[in-house]
Amino acid sequence: MENTTLWLKNIKSKECPKLEHDINVDVLIIGGGITGLSAAYHLKDSNLKIALVDKNLVAHGVSSRTTGKLTFLQELIYSKLNKKFSTEHVRMYLDSQISTIKMVKDIVETNNISCDFNEVDSYVFTDEEKEIVKIKKEKELLEQMGIEVNEYNDIPVQGIPAKYAISVGNTAVFHPVKYLLALKDICLNRGISIYENTNILDIIKKDSLYICKTPHGNIRCSKVALACHYPFFLLPLFFPLRGHLERSYLSASIVKNIKKFSAINTSVYSKSLRYHSDSKNSYFIYLNGSHIIEKNINEENNFNNLKKEVESLNLIPKYMWSNHDIITNDFLPYIGCVKSGDNTLLIGTGYNTWGMTNGSLAGKILSDMILEQENAYIPLFDPHRRKNIYNLVSIPANLYYSVKPFIENKLIKNKSWYSSDVVFKQIDGKSLAIYIDHNGKKHMVYNKCPHMKCNLVFNEPEKTWDCPCHGSRFSIDGECIQGPSNYNISYKSK
Ligand SMILES: Cc1cc2nc3c(=O)[nH]c(=O)nc-3n(C[C@H](O)[C@H](O)[C@H](O)COP(=O)(O)OP(=O)(O)OC[C@H]3O[C@@H](n4cnc5c(N)ncnc54)[C@H](O)[C@@H]3O)c2cc1C
Repeated sequence: MENTTLWLKNIKSKECPKLEHDINVDVLIIGGGITGLSAAYHLKDSNLKIALVDKNLVAHGVSSRTTGKLTFLQELIYSKLNKKFSTEHVRMYLDSQISTIKMVKDIVETNNISCDFNEVDSYVFTDEEKEIVKIKKEKELLEQMGIEVNEYNDIPVQGIPAKYAISVGNTAVFHPVKYLLALKDICLNRGISIYENTNILDIIKKDSLYICKTPHGNIRCSKVALACHYPFFLLPLFFPLRGHLERSYLSASIVKNIKKFSAINTSVYSKSLRYHSDSKNSYFIYLNGSHIIEKNINEENNFNNLKKEVESLNLIPKYMWSNHDIITNDFLPYIGCVKSGDNTLLIGTGYNTWGMTNGSLAGKILSDMILEQENAYIPLFDPHRRKNIYNLVSIPANLYYSVKPFIENKLIKNKSWYSSDVVFKQIDGKSLAIYIDHNGKKHMVYNKCPHMKCNLVFNEPEKTWDCPCHGSRFSIDGECIQGPSNYNISYKSK
């Protein structure tokens, strides 16, 4: 078993250069996940000079660790939105997801992209009596909006208990990394400059230009699209109050045959599944145990639970990995202007674990905004929509999710579950964390996330230092592999 995502196995892509000098472009896209590469794809035919930068390799962020479903049946999203928004808004969200699935299909077909794209039915299911009524309500809402919904007393897979399920058609699954790397190639062929291993440290506005600072050169541009998942800056928008992070655990096991459906349950203890086939193997992909990132931080336990569940289905996990996404206060993504009314600095984020559709959609909306073209969905996803973002429950809850792990991790540095290969020490007045690998080599890092100074937690199975406040992740040698942190935590002894 390997602690790595299935989607990065046996994938080859030619690395793009690191930015080593100053450049001038019209538009800079920061981040090469599904949002950034989709935006670049839609801008490729414009006359604008465009650059895309990623602090790591493109297609290696959250988008490489997803389940890879393209569906508009997203647990109980329409019931949730129905409580907060008008019927017209709920319908608009549904339309946006359906049209995005069609758009991705069209991109795949037009460009002949080989990304294991398959149209399959999507299911939502439960094995809890109290959830049945909620799913029935979701079915009713979908039917009112003209969607054909089927109902069942089971799902078509043995061993996963279900008492009630609904399904819809016209949804799909794909290999997210193959899709994104194909977009990367198309963009490169159309003259878009891509720089990998290039970290944007700061964005400064000078007159009508943005100066985006990287360690080895500045990028001057008139428009910036932030596609970096959790924003690395605090103000404006102040993300820690606008949402929280949810983490889940995924596995891929080799199976003989695949079934043409994907499914997700609605219970607090989440389960999500799909099948995938490539030229060599067929896989059953299974996700469990989603939780707010600051809870259940004993990752060894979380992975053991996943392994046990997969084994109870008579399967052996070949790959296991974790991933997290941003859950917004009103369950709608934030796509649009960072500063209200200023479409020179744009953002797409907050996809509530449905970023394969919403990230693709954000790419289209951001490109339309950059090209000053109309897009009917702009008002719905406006990051400055007032209603529901700043509500009385979410803000204190988000504050609690940020502050609780901050305090807890300051007080309890030595977690009882850590094995002896993890040590915390004060050296030269600095709080350090040391991981001793199986060869006895010491890997020393600063035990503080540069983002908001939260102490880090060791993720033993994946060998990463993780921030339980806002989700930054670092390698054992302190390289930042996932934001919002913008800096490494490597420690070099004197
Ligand atoms: C467990 C799990 C399962 C999921 N399954 C599904 C699913 O089946 N279907 C679905 O629709 N959605 C799913 N999602 C959600 C989806 O994976 C995400 O919403 C989506 O991938 C986010 O894409 P992104 O482009 O915003 O981020 P990313 O893919 O992380 O891309 C952001 C990029 O920005 C780069 N970056 C960050 N900061 C900087 C900087 N300062 N300078 C330069 N580059 C920077 C990063 O290196 C990264 O490559 C799932 C999420 C989770 C957690």
